[in-house]
This record gives sequence, structure tokens and C-alpha cells, in this order.
Amino acid sequence: MKLDVMRPPSLIDLGGLEDDGLRAIEASADGLRLGALVSMAQAADHPLIGRDYPVLAQALSSGASQQIRNMATLGGNVLQRTRCAYFRDVTWAACNKRTPGSGCAAMEGINRQHAVLGTSEHCIAAYPGDFAQALIALDASVRTSSPRGGRALPFAQLHCRPGQRPSVETCLEPDELIVRIDVPGAAWIRRSLYFKARDRESYEFALASVAIALDMHEGVVREARIALGGLATIPWRSHEAERELAGARLDESRAQAAAAAAFEQAKPRRHNQFKIELGKRVLTHALLAAAAMEL
Ligand code: SF4
Repeated sequence: MKLDVMRPPSLIDLGGLEDDGLRAIEASADGLRLGALVSMAQAADHPLIGRDYPVLAQALSSGASQQIRNMATLGGNVLQRTRCAYFRDVTWAACNKRTPGSGCAAMEGINRQHAVLGTSEHCIAAYPGDFAQALIALDASVRTSSPRGGRALPFAQLHCRPGQRPSVETCLEPDELIVRIDVPGAAWIRRSLYFKARDRESYEFALASVAIALDMHEGVVREARIALGGLATIPWRSHEAERELAGARLDESRAQAAAAAAFEQAKPRRHNQFKIELGKRVLTHALLAAAAMEL
């Protein structure tokens, strides 16, 4: 709105809603319930989340600045929009995400920050967040509310690839609110981490990031869950990398094989070829670090 990208006819302040569940962090043996109006800082600093769900705390504390984390809600965070400079600068007419059918200035423009996975011929904008990747790695789900009732959906189904319609970013209806995020207390929650490479160490978006959750026994991976950030048009689950790891002993060569598999389908543009090598190195490093965690 400050940049004139959007001019909504009205704004609704959700801060007046009185449902306590919207602001609650509830933990049990079954998992974690996070109200949509919990702030990023409240969740990142929660001792139980730091201990039992480290990937969540790390992803949240690596996003934005402390001042923003104090104000920003979890529900809002997962819906943040792309940082594509052409989308955010209305003097560029061609942006299919802002003005459907107008073209894409980034295709032949400066596209160093843009995505290499999940792109289409209509949009290559990268999803900018960190928390969403952690939620996918932990198999979280989203609960919504609308005048027709509510529904629960896997978090991995919340965001849409750009395809032919980059302006449609999520499967939420216009009158549908996220009210809660549920994270199951699965076997992989504690051996989890978030690793983020960026141009500067604070208050910066990811060039390449990885959220990992591993269920391991005596060095062998029972199940791996991997989500990539800064590299794709949506929070990106890498089934290809996960398949390389399932049932395998996780050493350096296996981690590198998983990283190679993750980027087999990558499509670089003129300025973002480097993201493929960077992404592989970030994933390899994160996998070995997660395997070495002492629980
Ligand atoms: Fe717009 Fe997407 Fe192209 Fe950026 S990459 S200019 S958001 S259509």
C-alpha cells in the first residue's frame, strides 16, 4: 500500500478479535497449536518451541528485524508477498502478478533474486519468507475460518505456483482467514534446523535457505523432510532430495546426491544461475549439520 501497489477500498484491523485461541501457543504430546495472531517474536522466543521445534524458532528469528518480529503475526507472515522489484515499483507496467496479462519485466530484466524452481513463463518471483519452509518441513496444517465455516488444509497446499495466473498466490478465498497453524509432534521435530544464506547477516531475505527435519536411527535416515526458500516461487518441498535420503546412511556424498537431486529441474535465468550451486551447498551443509545434532 505504501508503494501504491495496492489500493484496497477498506482495511480491517484483526487486533480487536477476542477469541483467545488466536493469541495462544499450546503444546502437548500431540503437537503444537499456534494462533494466527501470535507474533513472530513470541513464537521465536518460546522456550518449548526452541527446544522441541528448533527449525521453527530459527526460521522465525532469521526473518525481518526485531522490531518487525515484535509486531508481525504468524498468520500475516505466511501470506507476505514477493519482493520482486518490478512488482513493487508501479512505474514498471509489465507485471503479471500485479496486473494480469501485462507481461513480466523480470524475465529479461535484473533477475538475480528470482526463483529457479516452480517458475512459469508468466512469473519467476521468489517466495520471500522463512517460517513457511519450516512449517512444510514439519508437516504442519492450516486451519481457516470464513462465513461458511472452517477448514483444515496441509500447509504445503496453501500457496499456488504462478502457472498461468501469477496474481493468485494462495488457495484462500477472499473472505477466509487463517486462524491457527497446527504442527504435529512427529518423530522428526527435534532433529530439525533452518539455515539461510543471504547478502547480509541481518534484516535480509534469503538467496537460498533450507528447512530440514530428520527422523534418524544410528546414522540412517528413516524419513527426511526438506523445504527450500529463496529459490522457488512458493515454499518448496523437495521430494526429490527426500527420496535420495530415505533409508540411507547420511554422509557427505549422500547429502551431495540429495542436493543434486533437489535442483535437477531448476531453470535459471540470466542473473540467478549462481543460486543452483549456492542452493546445493546450503542444502548439503544443512543436512550434515542436522545429522550431527546431539539430542
Ligand atoms: Fe511480476 Fe512475477 Fe514478473 Fe516479478 S517475476 S515482474 S512479480 S510477473
